[in-house]
Amino acid sequence: MFFENIDFSSLELPPAALKVRKEVRAFLKAEVAANSYTPHLGHTEYDLNFTKRVGARGWIGMTWPKQYGGQERSYLERFVVTEEMLAYAAPCAAHWPGDRQTGPSLLRYGSEFLKQKFLPGIARGDITFALGMSEPGSGSDLASVRTRADKVDGGWRITGQKVWTSWAHEADAFFVLCRTSPLDQDRHQGLSQLIVELKNFPGVTVRPIRFMSGEHHFNEVFLDNVFVPDNYVVGEVGQGWKQITSELAFERSGPERFLTTFPLLVELIRRLGERDDARAHEMIGRLTARLWTLRRMSLAIALALDPTSGKQGTVDLGTEAALVKDMGTFYEREITEAARLLGEVEPTLDAGDTFERYLAECMINAPVSTIRGGTTQMLRTLIARRLLGALK
Ligand SMILES: Cc1cc2nc3c(=O)[nH]c(=O)nc-3n(C[C@H](O)[C@H](O)[C@H](O)COP(=O)(O)OP(=O)(O)OC[C@H]3O[C@@H](n4cnc5c(N)ncnc54)[C@H](O)[C@@H]3O)c2cc1C
Repeated sequence: MFFENIDFSSLELPPAALKVRKEVRAFLKAEVAANSYTPHLGHTEYDLNFTKRVGARGWIGMTWPKQYGGQERSYLERFVVTEEMLAYAAPCAAHWPGDRQTGPSLLRYGSEFLKQKFLPGIARGDITFALGMSEPGSGSDLASVRTRADKVDGGWRITGQKVWTSWAHEADAFFVLCRTSPLDQDRHQGLSQLIVELKNFPGVTVRPIRFMSGEHHFNEVFLDNVFVPDNYVVGEVGQGWKQITSELAFERSGPERFLTTFPLLVELIRRLGERDDARAHEMIGRLTARLWTLRRMSLAIALALDPTSGKQGTVDLGTEAALVKDMGTFYEREITEAARLLGEVEPTLDAGDTFERYLAECMINAPVSTIRGGTTQMLRTLIARRLLGALK
C-alpha cells in the first residue's frame, strides 16, 4: 500500500557517499573545534559565513548540473551531507531553503535566465532565499492565498501580506505564491510563483515576529504594489500550485524530518554511561531501532527521486514523504521526552552542560516541527485518503 514501488534491498550506501561522509565529518569537527559556530538544536541557525564555507566545498546544490554551479553528484551523497550537518547541529538555515526547494524548483521550472542568475550564487552560498507561501488565514489551506499580482507593462505589481517567513530579514529574495488571475471555482488554478527581492526593495516591508524565547527567525512581509519584471516569474503563469506541490516529496522526506533532535539522543546516551537501568536500556533500544527504520524509509525516497535511479517521475512518493514527516517529527519529540524522563535535570537555555542546554532547546522548539512543512492533521489526511482509496 505504501512504498510498494520501492526496493529496500539496494540501500547500501555507495563508496562515493561513504567518502563524502568522512569529508563532511572532518570539516564539521574542525569547525566545532575552532568554535566557528555553537551547535544549537530545534531550529537551525542562519550563518552566512558558514554557508559560504559549505558552498566552497561543493556541498550546496551538489546534485545540480555543473553548468549551474552544481557538482552532478547523487542524491545519496546529498543525503549523507544533510545527515552529518544535522548530527553536528550545524547552522544551515541560510542555504537549506535554496538547496532543498528554490534550487530544485528553478531547475525544473525556471527559465534559462533565472537559472543562470540565481543557481550558481545559491551553490556558492552567496545568494539566499526565503519562502513566501503562508499568509494570515492561509497556512494549511494554501490555495486560499490572497496576495495578488496584477499584470502591468513589462511585469507584475504585487500587493499582499506573507507571514511566518523564516529568515526574510536576512535572505536576498523569496518565492512568492500569489494569485495572478481572479479566484475561479477551482482555487488551485490561477496561482503563480514570482521572485521578489527582499533587501531594501521598493514596496517591501519586513517585520519581525519573535519566538517566545525572544529569538528572531520569523517575519511578516508586506508587499505594497511591488513591481516584478516578467522574467522573474517562475515557470508558467497560473501553474504555481502544480509547481509547489510537485516539490513536496523533497521537502518532507529528508533527514531534516527525523534528525533535528538526534544530538540530544547522543548526549543522553553519553550521560547514561554505564548506568544499570532496564528502563533506560529499553528506551534507548527502541529509539535506536525506530531511527534505523525511519532512515531506511527516507533513504528509499531519496534513492527513488535520484535521476540516475530510472524511477524519477515514474512514481508519486508524496504520501510516503508525508509518512516520513509525520513519523519522523513525532520521533524527534520522543527523544526529547526520553531525555526529560531519564536525564533528571532542570534544563535551561544558558546551561553550561551540553545535555541540559540541548534538552531546553528541544523542549522550547518542540511544537515547530509538526507544524512547518505541513501540519500533522494535513499529513494524516493525505495518508488516510490513500488508505481509503486502496480499500475501495
Ligand atoms: C518553524 C516554522 C517555520 C515556518 N517557515 C515558513 C516559511 O518560511 N514560509 C512560509 O510560507 N511559511 C512558513 N511556516 C508556516 C507554516 O507553513 C504554517 O504554519 C503551516 O502551514 C500551518 O498553517 P497555519 O499556521 O496557518 O495553521 P492553520 O492552517 O490555521 O492550522 C491550525 C490547526 O488546524 C489544523 N487544520 C487546518 N486545516 C485542517 C483540516 N482541513 N483538517 C484538519 N485539521 C486542520 C492544523 O493541522 C492545525 O493544527 C513556518 C512554520 C513554522 C512552525
